[in-house]
Amino acid sequence: MGIKFDENCSNQNEGMVNPGESDKTSNPPEEDEIILKSGGDGFKISAPGQTGKIVKFTERALGKYQLEKFYKGLEQLGITCSETQMGQFLTFYEMLIEKNKVMNLTSITEWEDAVEKHFLDSLSLIKCMDLNKKIRVLDLGTGAGFPGIPLKIVFPELELVLVDSLNKRILFIKDVLEELQLDGITAVHGRAEDLAVKKEYREKFGLCVSRAVANLSALAEYCLPFVKIGGNFISYKSGEIEEEAAQAKKAISVLGGTVSKIEKFTLPGTDVSRAFIQIEKKKKTPKGYPRKAGTPSKHPIQ
Ligand code: SAH
Repeated sequence: MGIKFDENCSNQNEGMVNPGESDKTSNPPEEDEIILKSGGDGFKISAPGQTGKIVKFTERALGKYQLEKFYKGLEQLGITCSETQMGQFLTFYEMLIEKNKVMNLTSITEWEDAVEKHFLDSLSLIKCMDLNKKIRVLDLGTGAGFPGIPLKIVFPELELVLVDSLNKRILFIKDVLEELQLDGITAVHGRAEDLAVKKEYREKFGLCVSRAVANLSALAEYCLPFVKIGGNFISYKSGEIEEEAAQAKKAISVLGGTVSKIEKFTLPGTDVSRAFIQIEKKKKTPKGYPRKAGTPSKHPIQ
């Protein structure tokens, strides 16, 4: 797939990105190509998955960032992204990179790496379950907002609560949510062990997700108390998860869950192997769990 400029359009955008500097070609576009058109109000992009729909982007999107990989990955996940949503991803990325200069948010800073390892990775949850519905979702240990913010951008019906024990990260997220004008999503500062015993959070979520926070035994103790009976806790893990899953079996069962699915896959456009462990909440989590702050990770249930 490549990017092509529509030959029939004149560049009326003085001071904008110069098509001559890009991958201009006179061949007719192939089926899966992104077609760039210049019009009076900026460049327009017709991309895979946007059949018949022309999407307008800002100058910076076209000039600075390659969108092909992102579109291709989204397409592989069966996701379409509107102009507004793509703009939200770009704004989020720029805020992340800017803040990362003064505060430790992520080691992944290149656009294409962020697309793969943050955005597409977060969104790949769609492989596990239907997210186009109203579910209350808690993202435990969200860090700079992963996977919660990408999920909210693409699946606006989800009602999200993003939790992190580091207030600086929560303050950054609050800025992002305001800038992206996202509703139905809040950021809460606190530790899982403290929040999960509170009435307003305990067994109140249809889904709890978590990426890169702790081993599965500790994570089950952090997350399962938030999930209501019949709901799910889904952990984002790397490909090799059998041993970790076996070690967490007792913890999962004690906390009222049972492993219902392990979904292994390769991240779109990469050879990175990933896995989701889906744990269904079958019974109430017994009182006393999660144990006090620090205990689940220091002494996981075994
Ligand atoms: N999920 C993000 C961040 C991973 S880093 C991502 O995938 O990029 C792990 C995050 O979990 C950190 O921001 C840390 O502050 C948070 N964290 C660790 N233990 C926690 C706990 N017990 N309760 C809440 N947040 C926790």
